[in-house]
Amino acid sequence: MQEDSPVQNENTPDTSQTGQPQRTGRRNRLIVLGAAALVALGLGGVVVATSGTDHPTPAAVSLDAQSRAEAASRADRSVRESSAPATPSLSPTPSPSAVSTSPAPTKTVTKPKPKPKKTTKPTPAWVDPMPGAAVTSCYGQRWGTLHAGIDLALPSGTPIHAAAAGTVTQAGDASDGYGNSVFIDHGNGYLTHYAHQSRIAVAVGQKVKAGQVIGYEGATGDATGPHLHFEVHQGMWNQIDPAPFMRARGVDLGC
Ligand SMILES: [Zn+2]
Repeated sequence: MQEDSPVQNENTPDTSQTGQPQRTGRRNRLIVLGAAALVALGLGGVVVATSGTDHPTPAAVSLDAQSRAEAASRADRSVRESSAPATPSLSPTPSPSAVSTSPAPTKTVTKPKPKPKKTTKPTPAWVDPMPGAAVTSCYGQRWGTLHAGIDLALPSGTPIHAAAAGTVTQAGDASDGYGNSVFIDHGNGYLTHYAHQSRIAVAVGQKVKAGQVIGYEGATGDATGPHLHFEVHQGMWNQIDPAPFMRARGVDLGC
């Protein structure tokens, strides 16, 4: 249906040149149309009234035009709360101007990547198996025999850490005086041995990382008090002095 010109929305029902293809002679209808147009104009809708000219009854025309104009007005108000004054619109859906005020798809601005902050130091390859402990016995001859490790003392239950990454090859009490002990094979010809543990936290075959807790200090086996007996084996049961070995790898055990 073609829209009426603004002239036809004026209250001039007697004009014969209305351009209406049908029902042009029905005065009542034109009066109703004019009233509806005025209502529509008051609501901000210019062309609302004419859309109902082919409706069967005048009442339907005015009601439809008014309700649609009101709906359009409400829709515009609800959408454009803070935008420019709304333009008259037939549709209850937001007009193009309203759509344009909606936030456009945000462009992802690619900022130059900041360099990764080195706030956390990477775990070194070798670490102190029990940091802060007091050395109660170093590697060497003691009481006529070789003390084949370093004794590190802290209260019982203190966590014991793997000195380096590796695979657990033994874990348990072999009734050989070491009590609950753990062997870690580091894959480079060296193994470390942690004895007298009160509790073991790893199992044979388990891969561990440097610094990982493998158990807790205790006094199992032949021990006069709670301490960690720490050994370094260059090949199984070939104990070497852990102090220079660890010092060469950045760990000072104090002997
Ligand atoms: Zn010892």
